[in-house]
Amino acid sequence: MKNLILEKIKKWSEETPESYFFDDGLNQLTYRELEDSSNALASYLEKNYPNKNNILVYGGQDGRMIISFLACIKAGHCYVPVDIHTPDERVQMILEESNATCAISLGAWPLDEKDVITEKVFETVIASKEMPSLNQVVLGNENFYMIFTSGTTGKPKGVQISYNNLVSFCDWMLSDFTLETGQRFLCQAPFSFDLSVMDLYPALLTGGTLVALSKDEVDNFPKLFARLPEMDLNIWVSTPSLVEICLLSPDFNNETLPNLVNFQFCGEELPHAVAKKLMDRFPKALIFNTYGPTEATVAITSVLITEEVLESTDRLPLGKVKGDTQLVILDDNGNDLPEGEIGEILIVGPGVSAGYFEQEEKTKEAFITYNGLPAYKTGDAGLIKNEHLFYKGRLDFQIKWHGYRMELGDIDHHMMEIDMVRNACVVPKYNKNHKVQQLIAYVVLEGIQDIDQKIKSNEIKEALQKSVMEYMIPQRFVFVENLPLTPNGKVNRKQLIEEVNS
Ligand code: AMP
Repeated sequence: MKNLILEKIKKWSEETPESYFFDDGLNQLTYRELEDSSNALASYLEKNYPNKNNILVYGGQDGRMIISFLACIKAGHCYVPVDIHTPDERVQMILEESNATCAISLGAWPLDEKDVITEKVFETVIASKEMPSLNQVVLGNENFYMIFTSGTTGKPKGVQISYNNLVSFCDWMLSDFTLETGQRFLCQAPFSFDLSVMDLYPALLTGGTLVALSKDEVDNFPKLFARLPEMDLNIWVSTPSLVEICLLSPDFNNETLPNLVNFQFCGEELPHAVAKKLMDRFPKALIFNTYGPTEATVAITSVLITEEVLESTDRLPLGKVKGDTQLVILDDNGNDLPEGEIGEILIVGPGVSAGYFEQEEKTKEAFITYNGLPAYKTGDAGLIKNEHLFYKGRLDFQIKWHGYRMELGDIDHHMMEIDMVRNACVVPKYNKNHKVQQLIAYVVLEGIQDIDQKIKSNEIKEALQKSVMEYMIPQRFVFVENLPLTPNGKVNRKQLIEEVNS
């Protein structure tokens, strides 16, 4: 059996060796370099880490990350991408939870852990031109990558994605999204967010170029708006939140970006107004709304947003499910519901992950079989009408902030680890587009404290920076003496959510 993903990339390195697979404006890397460098690194991994295992790959929007991913796969290892902006404590947790045999670090390595292939070693190794044996390339149901997502208990959980899962996703991307050879794809989503897989493999499989946009550029609007026209993009892959920011620039239009012909969105709800504005600015472009959780490999439904779709509804559909997959809507007792009724979305098919790495209990709760096939209970509420899936929000306390997924319980947990905090409950405030606008933390402080709210808020924010991602830090803090409780004595998050959104 062959690894078709590696084979296809190798083919580009033979047919168009000098074309770029990566371009961040300053550095360009060719398909020849991708093939040669990943071979050399794979050979090093085969010699030094002969047993198949997980390898953590740490870095930013950097072409060497992609070289490292392919090297891991060639040497039989599953890679665990961790973004460079992850707080040190969380990197440590992922290193432990993933049981990684070593780390490849393409930036300043933040931990004491010694078994690390540093940038210096990386550069020496890739210059070696050694060839790997390729005797144990990742295949079939073996894990290809593992992405860590926020967990309710404060510990991130690793979603295992196999080679077969990824092939199912890539086949669909190549057949249903009007991609052509040699296009330039936006590469903005951090590699630790599975949205990045939507540009990474479709680009590499079509001999395209990943045109990177760093966090630094995204966070600085003048820089962002200046860079966009220089990127000469054809394919746009992002969360709706990013495109909403870009639409603030009047130059983000068809005249300034004439080659941008295809927009693909995933990760959070695409607001009607955003799609409408985008269509006005880019009248000839294709705009796809897609939906899916990391657990079912990036996305599993899609719809082309047309004038008719915009006119037919004010909450956009998520679209039709991909050909090899089935959607089922379940009631509270796990029974199938008929078309048109709202229930939990169950995804059945070959893109469904084997579960969370070494987390049997959590896996059992969400991963089931349906008519003998692997299925994932999404925790999303939805309904199906005329074969199209429609989103109706979450059934639990997982939320999205600019497309990033988090469990509110994860933030509570890390707030309660701060000495001065006795109890905490974080709740989202939504806008009229059902989008989280603000995270509000209700906090009970330890002992009786004469508080200056601003100082305390800043102290808590500072402490949180060490343990949670930047996007998980609440914007507002409300200090209370007690939190409301449910009849069972648990903190009544629902009541607080209703209060802040009433
Ligand atoms: P992630 O695992 O980070 O991709 O997050 C998956 C979750 O994001 C889903 O379970 C949904 O709650 C939400 N989501 C993803 N795509 C969409 C979409 N197009 N519209 C609404 N929600 C979405």
